[in-house]
Amino acid sequence: MRAIEPHVDAGAYALGVLGQADACRFERHLSECSACVVRVREFGEVVEHLAAYVRLLPPGGAHRAFPWRR
Ligand SMILES: [Zn+2]
Repeated sequence: MRAIEPHVDAGAYALGVLGQADACRFERHLSECSACVVRVREFGEVVEHLAAYVRLLPPGGAHRAFPWRR
């Protein structure tokens, strides 16, 4: 994934889904962009909450907790 606008990679970076080259490029941008530092921190909090939620799901995961989502 290669974004033309570096700010849009904040979410992907927080999720850890950027490739190595894109992650390095974004980290260089991050060292100069306080707005993205805030975005990565905020996305990181969301990722932590989602991970905690997933750990609370019953065996069978989301399909069992939300049967309408099959
Ligand atoms: Zn930025």
